[in-house]
Amino acid sequence: MHPRLAEDLNSLPELLDAARKLAGEALAGLPDRPAAVPPGAVSRAPLPLGGAGGRAALEEFSQRWEAGVAGSAGPRYLGFVTGGATPAALAGDWLTATYDQNPASGMDSSAQDLERETVGWLAELFGLGAEFSGAFVTGATMSTVTGLAIAREWLGERAGVSVSDDGAAALGPVTVLSGSPHSSVPKALSFLGMGRSALRKVPVLPGREAVDVAKLAEALGSLDGPAVVVANAGTVNTVDFDDLRAIAALKQRYDFWLHVDAAFGGFAALVPEHAVLTAGLDQADSVVVDLHKWLNVPYDSAVQFTRRRDLQLRVFGNNAAYLGEIGETPDFLHLTPENSRRLRALPAWFSLVAYGRDGHREIVERCVSLARDLGARLDGSPHWRLLAPVRLNVVCFAPAEDVTQDRIDALVRAIAEDGTTFLTPTVYDGSPALRAAFSNWRTTAADLDRVFAALERVAAG
Ligand SMILES: *Cc1c(COP(=O)(O)O)cnc(C)c1O
Repeated sequence: MHPRLAEDLNSLPELLDAARKLAGEALAGLPDRPAAVPPGAVSRAPLPLGGAGGRAALEEFSQRWEAGVAGSAGPRYLGFVTGGATPAALAGDWLTATYDQNPASGMDSSAQDLERETVGWLAELFGLGAEFSGAFVTGATMSTVTGLAIAREWLGERAGVSVSDDGAAALGPVTVLSGSPHSSVPKALSFLGMGRSALRKVPVLPGREAVDVAKLAEALGSLDGPAVVVANAGTVNTVDFDDLRAIAALKQRYDFWLHVDAAFGGFAALVPEHAVLTAGLDQADSVVVDLHKWLNVPYDSAVQFTRRRDLQLRVFGNNAAYLGEIGETPDFLHLTPENSRRLRALPAWFSLVAYGRDGHREIVERCVSLARDLGARLDGSPHWRLLAPVRLNVVCFAPAEDVTQDRIDALVRAIAEDGTTFLTPTVYDGSPALRAAFSNWRTTAADLDRVFAALERVAAG
């Protein structure tokens, strides 16, 4: 054994204590760490040859990289839709690496059963019945890739061809209809050989990001064959929801696969007041839910649900002599793009056991209430203008005047440099805008005071 490895093996508890100490300090300092740390010039170190040992690596990380780490897991990072990690999820994540299981197959451990238990709890949380099966993937994008791959196989089934055997070309051109699709949808279509140009945008309702269901029906009626509909349960700009029940009802008249992107909007199902937004989610054929956003587990974690596991198996089945027959309960390597994978269910399992549905509902409720509060304050400020009602956890707004892309870019930079909070830019209804997304379990009313004060400060220039 290499001498540094042997030393680290001998002093493993001390190394872990040192790492735990650094983690403890980082977490204690998280509320005061700048939300964003605009990167400076970095010079790359040469490849280490002899190796310095784990303690020295920790030291070098602290000196060279630690200051460049953003407070994105902290309470005032409102960019993109970014969750943190609940205490239990963090502990679960450490143990994921510690045990280093590969839940691809069930030949050597119960890790897959833990994943199945967790997937079952999550399905229940989002109101999906026993007809749904699910699997962990790295994020909502991979969940959409998986869901649309199953949709592609379904289109093949309808056309009497096997896409998994003969390729996407066997299918010919396909049509994917959506009102306000997330950018990951055209990316998935490109990746899957269905092509970005398969995506046809359907008009949205006036002043909304939700699809006009009558227009969707018209579009479906104009097609010669089956299609894929991507419904949106929580858009990133204004958290608008398509009317899932009305869309699902169109299945009585038209033949389509219903894929629902509920990446973070799915969490509305946890709160009785907002659950109506996700009504109809259980009518979907494939469902995307991100966990590293509003469940507040560390990256990278999302779940993919479908009611057509048979087609999923055709797409992702990984037949190899050493794996044996695919039985009634297929191993996960037959269900997702990855074969080997980490036990990413464990952090979610920990958080659900630790805080339960009620604890996670409280996180969602608090985020929504803070978003509404920020919306009301911006609405009352002479510096800002709300661009849409605060429907859930995202505030979409712009300066009261001089709304140009340059101004928005300058504001994003100034906010990042101020460090109190971090917001990301967007374009809403053709006009440049800012958005503040609340999804972190730590955020409190006191944080909101600081965020609003920082925005007023930056606006005043
Ligand atoms: C974040 C998000 C995605 C992409 O999720 P990743 O986890 O970054 O892959 C897709 N759809 C919606 C609505 C999202 O909010």
